[in-house]
Amino acid sequence: MSTHVHVRVSDGLAVTETGDLVEGYRCGCGATWTRIHRADEGQPER
Ligand SMILES: [Zn+2]
Repeated sequence: MSTHVHVRVSDGLAVTETGDLVEGYRCGCGATWTRIHRADEGQPER
């Protein structure tokens, strides 16, 4: 395999019971990521 650079494509948003925003990403290779934005911290993603 050659070097693969993941391309994160937004795969949707979900809100948990506690109000956190869960953002999903996926790459064409099958890799997935999730990013959680905590509502109670009010802190922007770094
Ligand atoms: Zn990838």
